[in-house]
Amino acid sequence: MKVCLVYDQIYLEHDTGNHVENSRRLVEAMSYLRETGIEEKLTCLPPRSALLEELELVHTPEYISYVKSKAEKGGGWLDPDTVMSPKSYEAASYAAGGLLVATEAVMKGDVDNAFALVRPPGHHAVSNRAMGFCIFNNVAIAAKFALSRFNINRVLIVDFDVHHGNGTQGAFYGDPRVLYFSTHQYPFYPGTGWMDETGIGEAEGTTVNLPMSAGWGDDEYLGAFNEILVPVARKFRPDLILVSAGFDAHWADQLAMMRVSITGFAQMTTILSKMGAELCQGRLVFTLEGGYNLQVVASSIKAVLDVLLGNSEIDDPLGQAEVRKPEGFDEHIEAIKRIHQIQ
Ligand SMILES: [Zn+2]
Repeated sequence: MKVCLVYDQIYLEHDTGNHVENSRRLVEAMSYLRETGIEEKLTCLPPRSALLEELELVHTPEYISYVKSKAEKGGGWLDPDTVMSPKSYEAASYAAGGLLVATEAVMKGDVDNAFALVRPPGHHAVSNRAMGFCIFNNVAIAAKFALSRFNINRVLIVDFDVHHGNGTQGAFYGDPRVLYFSTHQYPFYPGTGWMDETGIGEAEGTTVNLPMSAGWGDDEYLGAFNEILVPVARKFRPDLILVSAGFDAHWADQLAMMRVSITGFAQMTTILSKMGAELCQGRLVFTLEGGYNLQVVASSIKAVLDVLLGNSEIDDPLGQAEVRKPEGFDEHIEAIKRIHQIQ
């Protein structure tokens, strides 16, 4: 398996100080990939900056120039959660562009699959506004880029970050070419993502939300993947799968209250990898979204890469959360099956 990693030090230049979304997330992850020797098994590609017209696939020209001028003036806050430094516009353009390099490498068949290890993250960013640590919506830009650049008709975006990707959902809510599937803690930031948000017009049914109750863990996530995602994806028949991989659903993450383990993330990756092989020649592109426990982020990225490389041994230095019997999961899944007409 030829697995591509896209990374560059430019991502460290988005300087957020002591914010939870800071450059140490990538510094620690990269040094762990080096230490464990897995980096040598990867095809490492440098990112490029997304072109203005590529950012405009999702964002308004006014918003893009606002972000640029804000950086030129030294940075500052874009929203109550999202801060910029002088280099943040450049880093954010390279974050979007990093995912484009990864997508292009996979679509051209230069590599089998890819992981874009970028920041700032993207899935909360909407067309005209930054939100929740996100400046440009990297994954949404990549989906539109893939549809316009390559001869494909359908893209599946799987978002297992603990937060709902409101920006990504919004970008494709009326677009039947993109199916957005999200598991997320609910109720939680940003407040969207209930199961009855399913798309509009001809895109009805191409938004699939799996709100998850605080405390649910590996079994519930794997259940959601096997019972909802797999049948929905089979029906949709994607030509490419993009994955918004946030690792903040881990039990040790400080922002959220889910109980997924690193082994759980690896098992979810195995499902995605099998699904990709069955449906779209294995075309899978992962990108980093959230995840704020540094050890969890580093080990989870390595676990995903191990699965993509076909390694069966997964290191899970943090282990499992204590077992707690989840309440209401089966009824919840049945309700979502009814909404999406899954037998
Ligand atoms: Zn998140």
